[in-house]
Amino acid sequence: MTAAQPGVYIGLGSNLGDRRGMIQRALAELDSAPDVVVAAVSSLQETEPCGYRAQPTFLNGAARLETPCEPRDLLERLLSIERALGRTRGGPRFGPRLIDLDLLLYGARVIHEPGLTVPHPRMHERRFVLEPLVELDPDLTLPDGTRVHDLLQALPG
Ligand code: AMP
Repeated sequence: MTAAQPGVYIGLGSNLGDRRGMIQRALAELDSAPDVVVAAVSSLQETEPCGYRAQPTFLNGAARLETPCEPRDLLERLLSIERALGRTRGGPRFGPRLIDLDLLLYGARVIHEPGLTVPHPRMHERRFVLEPLVELDPDLTLPDGTRVHDLLQALPG
């Protein structure tokens, strides 16, 4: 990665089947593209489901990528890997999923487009997103300068 390239972070989640295996397969799939490098992966933590609670616990983490791909192209890749790994849509929102890949941060870019919001709109309130990000980079900041570490400290409980 050249110094000019921004930090790109994705969220990883699974709560069905071989959860760790699904996340590893998703990362291997991403990394197999010539223009994407999975540069760092956080530890994967057990987390309670939020939103729709009657479902198995999740395994969650985050990864830092190095890529010249534009955010929209990267999102399409994440969605296509979700499909390739057998995720189907149509269940309850925030319901069980074999694999969930979210584009969390794309350096200092702020994007509000149909189907793509960056920073990810719900990352601020989710411990299972903020913790792995801080593990990957304790000094990470959002485009508005907020430290991810401070968001984590501000969460209730
Ligand atoms: P979900 O898999 O339930 O998180 O929702 C995925 C949908 O959210 C996709 O259809 C995306 O178009 C949309 N979306 C909007 N912003 C993002 C983002 N930053 N990361 C992932 N999906 C996003």
